[in-house]
Amino acid sequence: MHTMPERRAAGADLLVLGGGVIGLGCAWRAARAGLDVRVVDAGGTERATEVAAGMIAPVGEALWGEEALLAAAVESAARWPGFAGELESDAELPVPYRRCGSLHVGLDRDETAGLRRLHDLHSELGLEARWLRGSECRRLEPGLTTAVTGGYEAPGEAEIDTRVLLVALRAAAEARGVEVREGRAVELLVEDGRCTGARLESGEELHAERTLAALGARLGGELLPAEVRPPIRPVKGEVLRLRARPGEAPCERIIASERVYVVPRASGDVVIGATMEDRGFDLRVTAGGVHELLREAYRAVPEVAELELLECRAGLRPTTPDNTPVVGATAIEGLMLAGGHHRHGIMLAPVTADAVAAELSGGEVPACAAALRPGRFAARLEGTTA
Ligand SMILES: Cc1cc2nc3c(=O)[nH]c(=O)nc-3n(C[C@H](O)[C@H](O)[C@H](O)COP(=O)(O)OP(=O)(O)OC[C@H]3O[C@@H](n4cnc5c(N)ncnc54)[C@H](O)[C@@H]3O)c2cc1C
Repeated sequence: MHTMPERRAAGADLLVLGGGVIGLGCAWRAARAGLDVRVVDAGGTERATEVAAGMIAPVGEALWGEEALLAAAVESAARWPGFAGELESDAELPVPYRRCGSLHVGLDRDETAGLRRLHDLHSELGLEARWLRGSECRRLEPGLTTAVTGGYEAPGEAEIDTRVLLVALRAAAEARGVEVREGRAVELLVEDGRCTGARLESGEELHAERTLAALGARLGGELLPAEVRPPIRPVKGEVLRLRARPGEAPCERIIASERVYVVPRASGDVVIGATMEDRGFDLRVTAGGVHELLREAYRAVPEVAELELLECRAGLRPTTPDNTPVVGATAIEGLMLAGGHHRHGIMLAPVTADAVAAELSGGEVPACAAALRPGRFAARLEGTTA
């Protein structure tokens, strides 16, 4: 019988490249399923998870033509309470998952008409949401502008502070024996068509039975051999963090209009997001982006003007052509992918992590994960985990 460090010297069962919500989530769930796991994360300012608003909002994100994504979102949102509870118990830290509900509002006739059509789609799809007149919206959220003309409430939607989430995921993973370390993978080790680990910038080689690439916006980059590289690009998002005085939160629920959302945290922090731009790996915060976010947030919830402005950041959403993630084995034996979660990585973390852990440990893979397999972009991308 080998101890964990002895087994690791010979190579872990699983090497995870990337320590965002997806990499750490998969590592933790795989370790819970009995695997010996190691995570290597490059750190830096590129971790989208750190800037995310943390909404778990399957209704608000539902769009025409994105059925596979919606099925995964609904399944994952349903898994969130259990995921948060197990995380809290493994990490021995509070996990601030909060089912605060959301209110999506129209601020003029056109916006409200567009929202009404979306709400009809929600009804067709059986999603939990109810239509409200403008005055009813304001009764629920008195901080809303008097210009609000209608909207829908989605009471099941939730939020989580993603920085607290990252700390908890790391603690839970470590409590389950996962080794988490800093380092940048610069080359995958591939021998006879099989991935056996990765080489780090330091020159060190880490070996493992299976390797999971969870590199966020870098998953479409050159670390992966061209034949298994998924079509992922960075989509920039600027986001603001503000703080309300105790007892003076501008809203109780997530408030979303056509161009902005306002997410209140239990801590008193308020997140306002987010712009969407195709600008490569540009992480600069622009005056125009901040202006647009503040203007639109003020238009919906005028009280945001009273909040203390704490931070302006930009992050990179890892985005595929169909806005749906890639999760599963590749044509290189032993190499799996988990990424491309676009605006939904926090929401989709439980279903992604459970799908990866089940595929690795022979458990039951959630049915909705079949539509996330990399092979939908090109048959050459896909393989088996063997
Ligand atoms: C402004 C904004 C708001 C958002 N709001 C929400 C929201 O409300 N709800 C929601 O569900 N989603 C939201 N998202 C999306 C969500 O943040 C992402 O989908 C999710 O964080 C992606 O997680 P990830 O682990 O794949 O990537 P990341 O969090 O980016 O982590 C990837 C990690 O891989 C590391 N890495 C990269 N290359 C290497 C390498 N060669 N070797 C080792 N490590 C490497 C990086 O350093 C990084 O730490 C938002 C995103 C943005 C930008």
